[in-house]
Amino acid sequence: MESFLKLAGGTVVDPVSNMTGEVRDLWIRDGKIIATPTEPVVHTTIDVSNRIIMAGAIDMHCHIAGPKVNTARKMQPEQHRSAPQGRSALEDGILHSGSLGSVPSIFTAGYRYTGLGYTTCFDAAVPPLAARHVHFEFEQIPNVDTGFFTLVGNNHYIMDCIARGDDSGLQSFLGWLVNRVGAFAPKIVNPGGVELWKQSRSGNAKDLGKTVDGFGVTPRQIIQSITRAANALDMPHPVHIHTNNLGIPGNWETTLETLKAVNGMRAHLAHIQFHSYGGGSEEETSLCSKVRVLAEYVNTHPELTVDVGQVLFGQTTSMTGDGPLGYYLQKVSGEKWYSADTEFEAGCGVSPIEYKNKNFIHALQWAIGLEWYLLVANPWQVVMSTDHPNGGSFLAYPQIVRLLMDREFRREMIAQLNPAVLKHSCLADLDREYTLGEIAVITRAGPARILGLKHKGHLGVGADADVCVYEPNSNYQRMFELPHMVIKGGKVLVEDTEIRQTVEGKTLVANPDYDQYRNESIESWFSSHYSLQSEHYGIQDGSAFRRKFEAVDSLPRSDS
Ligand SMILES: [Zn+2]
Repeated sequence: MESFLKLAGGTVVDPVSNMTGEVRDLWIRDGKIIATPTEPVVHTTIDVSNRIIMAGAIDMHCHIAGPKVNTARKMQPEQHRSAPQGRSALEDGILHSGSLGSVPSIFTAGYRYTGLGYTTCFDAAVPPLAARHVHFEFEQIPNVDTGFFTLVGNNHYIMDCIARGDDSGLQSFLGWLVNRVGAFAPKIVNPGGVELWKQSRSGNAKDLGKTVDGFGVTPRQIIQSITRAANALDMPHPVHIHTNNLGIPGNWETTLETLKAVNGMRAHLAHIQFHSYGGGSEEETSLCSKVRVLAEYVNTHPELTVDVGQVLFGQTTSMTGDGPLGYYLQKVSGEKWYSADTEFEAGCGVSPIEYKNKNFIHALQWAIGLEWYLLVANPWQVVMSTDHPNGGSFLAYPQIVRLLMDREFRREMIAQLNPAVLKHSCLADLDREYTLGEIAVITRAGPARILGLKHKGHLGVGADADVCVYEPNSNYQRMFELPHMVIKGGKVLVEDTEIRQTVEGKTLVANPDYDQYRNESIESWFSSHYSLQSEHYGIQDGSAFRRKFEAVDSLPRSDS
């Protein structure tokens, strides 16, 4: 049993506990927040007076592990040449070597997340076939708890179940798959479209009503059936959706149809910025924002949540489980490109991209992302993300904080954009400024609630002692860039803005209960189709892994 730790006199911002800046002490023991002891106890005190205290931040949608992330690192050696070197902590033997660029290597990603006060991260697109690899990579990510969403929207077994109207078979398969691969949630990416891309040159599903050849199902059916099955399995985060037509002018109609398709069920739409475009493909300048109409729909549907996928200016990498999208992006940019199909499950595309503020389309994407934060009325329904590294690196999160909290800074940035953008976006008319409490919602409390993580995102008794201590600064970017102190599971990892030690994180999994009547037939289907043996698929009992798996309970139905 560990001794008591007291964080004394901090200014606590914790929306879950209704604290918006109350000065109070926080007590920690055995990695958890505890109530103030009623008897005197032997303890260590850290003075955090005049500093702002929040729970550790949560990135609920990023790409940090797995085959496509490794491909992205390898295909861009040019990004590593100019990467800054940090030798002191390496020489002290605290840190492992690594590289940065837009896709940091695995240890570096953990260190950089820690340095920003992030203590939990979810990789948003892991093919089930790559799960084993991802779990081993997670073991090398220091300091952060991790989990992943696994790709299911183009899975042959699932599409066959849907075509037969076999809801119970689909539910059973989804339960089997999520358990087998150690996933946290199912992820739908371009439902049907990836399968059509794999079948034929330039194949895609641009309409939710299009029939997927060979399966006789439509993207709309895939979205509805998986969302229904995942909600029936009571998973903590039922479903994560990257819908069809990402990045295509005029795609807002597909997005609205998707929001309507889930029809009252809990669902999360990912990187919604990339799905909010008006205009047609013929004329580039017809591109415009459709956030107002989409946000209005979200505002009247509390069961729906979104993360933004904010674009920031600079060099980065697009990486996606959406095969046809990878092809489209490299055609637009003329950049190098990687594409791969994953047997009966998924696909992927990777291509470098640079966002420029003088480029009309890029500047409009930037504005559309900010519109989402400012037009969703309830901050509990919108989550900060750059879809790292797609819209930009997670290292840009502090800049987004400043853009939301400081409208003068936002105006300065707007003034530097390609001026045509202001005719196509309402951003310049939006005066809203986020409070610190609202920032705490969209960076930790909200994602924790959306993910069903009752023990994260807040500082109440029983929460994980993942704590971030900030030095107040009227420049909010500076404040959030360099937390004074970061504590993970009760251990002080960052002190005076420097990493002092590292700890092993946990892997969060869903483990849904499901009817196992199909297990045998699923195994037999697997053996007769896949290129590898079933015993090498997923995590089995998890005994090959050093890291702890933590099963997260389902949300009570009343929360849905
Ligand atoms: Zn993503």
